[in-house]
Amino acid sequence: MILTYSWISAVSMTKTIRLDEFGGPEVLKWTEVATGDPGPGEARVAHTAIGVNLIDTYFRSGLYPIELPSGLGSEAAGVVSAVGSGVDHVQVGDRVAYVTPPPLDGYSEERLLDAARLVKLPQGVEDETAAAMMLKGMTSWYLLHRSYPVQVGQWIVLYAAAGGVGSILSQWASGIGARVIGIVSTEEKREVALGHGCEHVLLAEEEVVGRVRELTDGEGVPVVYDSIGRDTFVQSLDCLRPHGFMVSFGNASGLVEPFTPLDLQTRGSLYVTRPTLWNFIATRDELIEASSALFNMVGSGKVSIEVNQRYPLSSAAEAHRDLEARRTTGCTILSP
Ligand code: NDP
Repeated sequence: MILTYSWISAVSMTKTIRLDEFGGPEVLKWTEVATGDPGPGEARVAHTAIGVNLIDTYFRSGLYPIELPSGLGSEAAGVVSAVGSGVDHVQVGDRVAYVTPPPLDGYSEERLLDAARLVKLPQGVEDETAAAMMLKGMTSWYLLHRSYPVQVGQWIVLYAAAGGVGSILSQWASGIGARVIGIVSTEEKREVALGHGCEHVLLAEEEVVGRVRELTDGEGVPVVYDSIGRDTFVQSLDCLRPHGFMVSFGNASGLVEPFTPLDLQTRGSLYVTRPTLWNFIATRDELIEASSALFNMVGSGKVSIEVNQRYPLSSAAEAHRDLEARRTTGCTILSP
C-alpha cells in the first residue's frame, strides 16, 4: 500500500495542448499529461501566463517542421516549482520567464525545460507582460541592434505595425530616434500603429513603394523589416536606397519565392538577411544581454506591452483563428 501511494504522489499531472498531426487550429487537443521531476540542468515551471505568436501557427501547420506528437508555444512566464541538480541561477519560488526553440511545451499549466533558458523577472514586470514580450521583444532588440543597427534619424519601414512584434518594434525604434513608416491592413490598425510612435502609417493597399519614396525625398530607406514574406518581398526591395538592408524575418503570407542575386545588383547593391532569434540568444550571456535590454526599454516606459487579447489556455485554437485571420492587435495571452 505504502509503495503504491508514494508512486502515485510522485507523478504530477498537468493540463496541456498537444498536436498529433499538422493542420488547422482544430488539431490542437486539450489533454492531460505527466510532468515528472526535473533532470540535471532542468527546472519545472508552473505557468501564470503564456504568449501566443504567429510562429506557433507555423509549427502547428507544419510550415516549420517539428517532431510529432508535440506540445506548442515558445514563450511564457511563471514560478519555478522544482529544480534539478546543477541549477543554481534560479530557485523554487522565483518568478521567471523564457523563450525556447523546439521541443515546444509553452501551452501547458506546468512544464520541464532547460533551466539555462530562464531569466528571473525584475520587480515591476508583471507575469502577463513578460509572457507577452520575451519572443517579440527580444526579436525587436536583435532586429534593431544586430541585424541592422539603426541610427538616430534613419527611416525604417515596418510591416504589421499594429501586431505583436510590430507594436513593440515601432515603439523601440522611435524610442531610439528612428523615423518609422508602418504598414497595416486597416484604418483601425492605422490608428493603433500611430499610437506606437510610427511617424507615417500606410495601408497595405496603397502604392507603398511610391509613398515611401515620396516620404524620403525620393531616396528610399536604409532598412525594411519585412515579416510578411511572399506577398511583399519584391516591394520591400524596391523601397530600399542603394546599399540598403532587406531584413526578411517572417512569412505571414507564405515563404519568399526564390530570387536571383542580380535582383539586388539592379536595385543598388542591396543586402538581404533572413534572421532568427535563436542565433542571437544562443549563449546564456547573449540571452541576459537581450533580456536586460528588453527589461530596460520596458522599465524606462519607452516600450509598453499591450495585451489586447486574452483566452483560457484550453481555447488556444480560438486564439490561433483570430491571429491568422488578422483580427488581433498587440499581444495575445493564454491563461492557464
Ligand atoms: P502579428 O501579431 O504581427 O500578426 C501577424 C500580422 O501579419 C497580422 O496581424 C497582419 O497584420 C499581418 N499579415 C499580413 N499578411 C498576413 C497574412 N496573409 N496572414 C496573416 N497575417 C498577415 O504576429 P507576431 O507578432 O506573432 O509575428 C509577427 C511576425 O514576426 C511573423 O511573421 C513572425 O513569423 C515573425 N517573427 C519572426 C521572428 C524571427 O526571429 N525571425 C521571431 C518572432 C516573430 P496586418 O493586418 O496589419 O497586415
